[in-house]
Amino acid sequence: MEATSDRNWDLIVIGGGIVGCSAAYYAAKNGMRVLLVERDAPASAQSGRNLGFVRQQNRDFRELALMIGAMPIWEGLEAELGRQVGWQQGGNLSLAFSEADLVARRAWQKRATEEFGLDTRMLSAAETLALVPHLAADCDVVGAMYTPSDGKAEPARATRAFFDAALENGAAFAFGEPATGIEFSAGRVSGVQVRDRLYRADVVITAAGAGSAALLRKAGLNLPQEFIRATVARTAARPQQRIPACVSGQLAGIRQDVNGAYLMSVAGGEYDLRFDSWRHMRWYGETRKSNPDAARLDYLAPLKRLLPRKAASPLADFPPSRDRPRAEAFRVDQARQEFSRLFPALADLEIETSWAGIIDVMPDVIPVLGTVEGMSGLLVGTGFSGHGFGPGPMAGKVLSELASGRKSPVDISSLSTLRFVKR
Ligand SMILES: Cc1cc2nc3c(=O)[nH]c(=O)nc-3n(C[C@H](O)[C@H](O)[C@H](O)COP(=O)(O)OP(=O)(O)OC[C@H]3O[C@@H](n4cnc5c(N)ncnc54)[C@H](O)[C@@H]3O)c2cc1C
Repeated sequence: MEATSDRNWDLIVIGGGIVGCSAAYYAAKNGMRVLLVERDAPASAQSGRNLGFVRQQNRDFRELALMIGAMPIWEGLEAELGRQVGWQQGGNLSLAFSEADLVARRAWQKRATEEFGLDTRMLSAAETLALVPHLAADCDVVGAMYTPSDGKAEPARATRAFFDAALENGAAFAFGEPATGIEFSAGRVSGVQVRDRLYRADVVITAAGAGSAALLRKAGLNLPQEFIRATVARTAARPQQRIPACVSGQLAGIRQDVNGAYLMSVAGGEYDLRFDSWRHMRWYGETRKSNPDAARLDYLAPLKRLLPRKAASPLADFPPSRDRPRAEAFRVDQARQEFSRLFPALADLEIETSWAGIIDVMPDVIPVLGTVEGMSGLLVGTGFSGHGFGPGPMAGKVLSELASGRKSPVDISSLSTLRFVKR
C-alpha cells in the first residue's frame, strides 16, 4: 500500500554527496523546509572516496566560473560550518615532463590568467624542485604549472560537515532507501517516491551522482551519463615530512592528508561493460578519440560481479556504499610506482588501504547543472565527471538559489541539460 508523507516540503534533495548536502544546507539556512533522501549514508559514494583536490587549475573553461565561485566558500568553510574539514590552501602543481606538456600547460595558463584573472604561473624545473619538498632532482621534470590559490580538503569530513550543518538548520533526512521516482502533476514536479512512500514537494533537486541518470530517465529526461570506476590508495602516515601542494604527475594525482598519509590515484579508470552499455555509445566516440586513456574497457566485468569478494577495506573514513566498487590492484601499483619515482624519500611508506569510487561522467566531461526545460520544479546537479568535489559546494549553492526562485550567482549557461536533449 502506498503511504503519503503527512507534510509538504519546499524542497526535496535526492543524494547525500557534497552537492546534495551543500544544497540542503544552503536551502535550509535560507528558511526552506528541506528533505534529503539518500539511499546509503552521506558521503558513502564519490564525495567520501575522492582524492580531495580543490583545484581551479586545468579545468575546462566552461566550468571554471563555477569553480572560481567555489573558492571563497572553501576559504571560509570551517568558520561558516563550525567544523574542521582539513582545508589547506597549499596550491596545485601540474608537473611537465616534455616540451609538449609545457606547451599545453602554457596555453591553459595564458587563458586562465588573461580571461579569468587566476594566479596560475609557469615554473622552471629548478623552481619546481625548490617548491616541492622531497621531489626527486632526477625525476625528469622540465617545469610545472602552479596555482597557489588552489587547495585541498578531506572529502568525507567536508561532506559530513555540510550534512551536520544542514541538520542544525532544520533539514530532515531519509536514509537507507533509494528514491525510486520523481512525480509530476499537471506538468510540474509534485514529489519523490521512495519505494512505497510519496514525499511531496514543488521543487526537487537530483544530485544522485551515478544514480541520477536512471532516475531522470524514468522522469523523461534522457542524459547520456556513464560510469568509470576509479581507484585510490592511501599510505601510512608520515606527518614529519610535509608536502603542502596537491601534485599531478604523468599518471597519478598525489595529496598528503591531514594526518600526514599520502593519497594517490591514477587519472581515469575502468569502464565496466554492462548489459546496457550500448545505450550511450554514440555520445562517446569523440571523448574516446580525444582521451583514449581515460577509461580501460573491462569486458569481464559482468562475470566478475558474480565472483566472491574479499571483505571491504577496514580503514576507510567513509560509510560503505551498496555498489561496493572494487579497487583495482594494478592501478594501485601504477600510482605507487609514480609516487616512488617522484618522491624516493617516501618510497618506503606502506600502502595501508585502497578503495574505488564510481565516477559519473558526461560525454563532454563537464557537469549538468540547473533547471530542465519543460519540467518545472526539477533541478539537476550531476555528471561532474571526476572533478566535482572542488566545485561541489558552489553547485549546491547555485541549486539552492534556483530552488528558491532566484538566479544562479555564477554563469552556468554552458552546463545546461539542453546540450544533450536537443540532438
Ligand atoms: C577516485 C575518485 C577521485 C576523485 N578525485 C577528485 C578530486 O581530487 N577533486 C575533485 O574535485 N573531484 C574528484 N572526484 C570527483 C568527485 O568525488 C565527484 O565529482 C563529487 O563527489 C560528486 O558529488 P555528488 O554529490 O554529485 O555525487 P556523489 O558523491 O556520488 O553523491 C551522490 C549520492 O546519491 C546517492 N544516490 C544515488 N542514487 C540514489 C537514489 N536513487 N536515491 C537516493 N540516493 C541516491 C548515492 O548513494 C550518493 O551518496 C573524484 C572521484 C573519484 C571516484
